[in-house]
Amino acid sequence: MSSEVKLSVLFTAEEIAVVVERLAAEIRRDYLDKNPVLITVLKGSFVFLADLVRQLDFPLEIEFAQLSSYGHGKESAGKIKVVQDIQCDIKGRHVLVVEDIIDTGLTAAFFLKHLKEKQPASLKLCSLTDKPSRTQVKINIDYLGLTVPDKFIVGYGIDWDEKFRYLPDIRAIEDEG
Ligand code: 5GP
Repeated sequence: MSSEVKLSVLFTAEEIAVVVERLAAEIRRDYLDKNPVLITVLKGSFVFLADLVRQLDFPLEIEFAQLSSYGHGKESAGKIKVVQDIQCDIKGRHVLVVEDIIDTGLTAAFFLKHLKEKQPASLKLCSLTDKPSRTQVKINIDYLGLTVPDKFIVGYGIDWDEKFRYLPDIRAIEDEG
């Protein structure tokens, strides 16, 4: 099926690297002495996190959570659930959520509320991409990488039904053949 899908490059690997470097500099400036907990939502953010964290040369911790939002295909499954929660106690800690995509904002809003109940000292959001044309819930993105058009994107860790995560760049699905 994937051979019939037409993809167009939105952001090259080089463009993404520049953006990640900028975000890392901003995060470094704000968290240098805070020993933050970076919480990444699996699976789409894993490549972004790996690149980001290798530019952060100060003490920090990494946690993973998994949520269910989209099922198969490109439509939302509707309900959001915590499938796998973080393993450490974040009460009194400085927490930075690292996301791949803010689309409607529903997932991030849900997850931030979930984490807030655990009483962190601070809670901020970093997202590699945002699709403002799709916003349903307005959330503040403290560290934003790229603004993307209203297209379904894949690559750089981001999948479509588990496909295309391996692409080094970010591409848009133009049509499905
Ligand atoms: P939201 O709750 O903000 O609408 O959706 C966030 C989640 O929806 C993302 O983490 C991702 O799993 C999925 N999603 C939204 N837009 C896209 C997209 O363009 N491409 C892919 N692969 N997933 C998307």
